[in-house]
Amino acid sequence: MTHSDVCFDTKCIHAGQHPDKLFGGVSVPIYQSSTFAFEDADQGAARFSGKDCGYKYTRIGNPTTAALEECVAELENGKCAVATASGMAAISTVFMAFLGAGKHIVSTGSVYGPTRTILEKELTRFGVESTFVDTSSPENVKNAIKPNTTLVYLETPANPTLSISDIESCAKIAHEANAILVVDNTFCSPILQNPLELGADVVLHSMTKFLNGHSDVVAGIIVTKCGDLMKKIRTVLTQFGGTIDPHQAWLVLRGIKTLDMRVRVAQENALKLAEELEKHPKVAWVKYPGLKSHPQYELAKKQMNGPGAMISFEVKGGVKAGKTVMDSVRVCTLAVSLGGIESLIQHPASMTHASMGSEARAQAEISDGLIRLSVGCENFADIKNDIFSALDKI
Ligand SMILES: *Cc1c(COP(=O)(O)O)cnc(C)c1O
Repeated sequence: MTHSDVCFDTKCIHAGQHPDKLFGGVSVPIYQSSTFAFEDADQGAARFSGKDCGYKYTRIGNPTTAALEECVAELENGKCAVATASGMAAISTVFMAFLGAGKHIVSTGSVYGPTRTILEKELTRFGVESTFVDTSSPENVKNAIKPNTTLVYLETPANPTLSISDIESCAKIAHEANAILVVDNTFCSPILQNPLELGADVVLHSMTKFLNGHSDVVAGIIVTKCGDLMKKIRTVLTQFGGTIDPHQAWLVLRGIKTLDMRVRVAQENALKLAEELEKHPKVAWVKYPGLKSHPQYELAKKQMNGPGAMISFEVKGGVKAGKTVMDSVRVCTLAVSLGGIESLIQHPASMTHASMGSEARAQAEISDGLIRLSVGCENFADIKNDIFSALDKI
């Protein structure tokens, strides 16, 4: 059963989650089993030859995991999905499926740090070439394409600059070059952006963030709109082994039930906070796709269903001022990661991006007073008072 005729919030609660056939359990059972018994030798043979699509072994497939895969495929309006042990397992699986010796990838420059590291430090060992550009201008993507480009990779909005890339234009550029377009949709979650509908071939998520939403699970997922692409991806995943665990899959399914309400509340808080921060005397600038001051405000309105819950802002006073804010918050949690029900705050110059050095940071537009805030679902007054009293301490 698919839920193509119901609204997104209804899909979050029901997609992929059929009442259990054995006892009618309303919640999908956790099939915490590594292996599955065959009735006889013929059935075992049929499962391995593919004539019988029943389960064999959890690295290859599991009923709880399958429910999650069906759910997220529906939320992204894709055809099929495969869940992974982490967001990085999803990303590295896609890279291993479509890159190889002599192949070239064009990627957003300010991608999630480890994504860039595996391309620059690990995949170079296997002869993969990569070019990083500011993909917020499609021209840059076009100019970076080479005859051996097989993959164009976007992260939009990017981390932590929140700059936005035009998915539709980049899909056209990729397809003209016979490359596929892959989009990391972690910052939006399927409620705010559906890259497959804008021409992307593959969309992936760190489900650790908004999809699960409770800062208690690390997981990832890859969704495609075409069965052939998924066949290749699934084969690579089951061979390399970055499979999700059934209990982890069940926790994410449970988190997704409230995805719509969580993102709505967090986004409402974020928009109000971004507007207030923009007027604050200690704040140099605010970057948030819901503000008219965002350089790609119009594009955000066109390609996203809402501006989301991530805000970047620059406090006056550089690294020292940034650290003061970190040390002064009490409601917001000082932690990396994002998309949790709790507000999470971090300071890239002294934390996630400290090892880059200030010159490389400046080039990547990560200034010394930049603060990244993942706005959560606490009461707005509490979040605002917390941030504003921390700004007073500067
Ligand atoms: C967190 C994150 C990842 C990596 O996901 P893990 O679940 O930590 O492996 C990838 N991309 C983006 C945009 C992220 O925020």
